[in-house]
Amino acid sequence: MIQRIIRNIWAVGRNYQAHANEMGQPVPSTPMIFLKAGSAATMSPEVRLYQGSKDIHHEVEIVLRFGTKADSNGRLEFDAAAIGLDLTARDLQAELKAKSHPWTLAKSFRDSLPVSAMVAIPPAVPHFKFELSVNGETRQRGDTRDMIFDFETLRTYVFDNFPVEPGDLLLTGTPEGVARLKTDDRAEASFESGLGHRVRAEWIFR
Ligand code: MG
Repeated sequence: MIQRIIRNIWAVGRNYQAHANEMGQPVPSTPMIFLKAGSAATMSPEVRLYQGSKDIHHEVEIVLRFGTKADSNGRLEFDAAAIGLDLTARDLQAELKAKSHPWTLAKSFRDSLPVSAMVAIPPAVPHFKFELSVNGETRQRGDTRDMIFDFETLRTYVFDNFPVEPGDLLLTGTPEGVARLKTDDRAEASFESGLGHRVRAEWIFR
């Protein structure tokens, strides 16, 4: 069950060059932001795969939480980090893109953000190394130093353009290696920060 209410989930697309390449898409010149419903997040170790898609992909991402404190410019700072999966209905996303329609159906279905517990981080967000394995096989490895838009750029951009509130989450993009999840797959994701923070989470997909 979700342990607390999450209102807004701001997410950035194509923030790693190698993932943009594997999708055959250009890298944006400003952050490309989309929303997932707050109620799409789940902290349950059992994740229900959305039945409206035949091609749900995992996108492992560093998740940051906006806290209650603001910097000297009045912008909320991050206060916690987690690891999560920006689950994406790739078949529906391709159809929606072809029609120039919004991505909501492909990105914001029930349980589309399995997310770990949060760990407190300082406002000067450290870098993270993170990875995802499925059924014991490594699928994705990332290092946030490879992000096209860094945490500070994303924080400023999102805060200045959207009604960000304390407790909102930011999904910071996925590295290469996205692939399909199937019923009964078991996934394990983890990160380690440059300051020694560690998080690990496991999910089974039903
Ligand atoms: Mg993503």
